[in-house]
Amino acid sequence: MADQAKELEKTKGVANVEVRRRWDKEEYRRKALEREERRHQPAVKRKFEKDETGVLTSVPMLKGRTDKAVTRSIEKDVGKSYMVNPEGDGAEKGGYYCKHCDRSYMDSTSYLDHLNSRMHQAAIGSSMMVKKSTEEEVKSRFKLHITKKLEAVNNGKDDSNSAQKYSFAERVKKLEEEELEIKERQREAKKRKKEAKEQMKKEAENAFTDEEAMAAMGFGSFGAKK
Ligand SMILES: [Zn+2]
Repeated sequence: MADQAKELEKTKGVANVEVRRRWDKEEYRRKALEREERRHQPAVKRKFEKDETGVLTSVPMLKGRTDKAVTRSIEKDVGKSYMVNPEGDGAEKGGYYCKHCDRSYMDSTSYLDHLNSRMHQAAIGSSMMVKKSTEEEVKSRFKLHITKKLEAVNNGKDDSNSAQKYSFAERVKKLEEEELEIKERQREAKKRKKEAKEQMKKEAENAFTDEEAMAAMGFGSFGAKK
């Protein structure tokens, strides 16, 4: 019995040694060297051109995120966090990997923060400057959203409050009418106030010129002989 157990122990140990991972040291040395090399590469300097007045002309302005896959991956895993191996090579780090900056993030929030960071924007060749919109651009944007909304309402896809489901134009018209009504009421109130004031003034004047009233107040008449 004892011999059998001893034998079992022996094979166990042998099997264990066989299963143990053998590290390919050469492979990892190569990866480490590559990583070091990447780290010491100088950052790419962007050149901004200026016109004769010194105004920047070729600034790559900050743009909205257009990579649908990135947006989807962020929205899909909100609130989840991943294990990240900082020693990993490239995407092997796991988690949310940014190929431009060779960094990994554990969750969507920190990844999003990174995407919006100056460092990341610089890596993809963008400045943090935002293009100023003209009045026309703002107007056309409004128009676009109004038509979109109208389409949604007409197709019955609008999920907003059912009480608001009449057309946008109607709503605007109603608001304008209400505004006019309020203004009209205010104007009338002002007019009434003015009239009342004038009435009071008139009465006061009448009272002042009324000799009886003056006598009653003990003024008598000035200069006028009775
Ligand atoms: Zn990045």
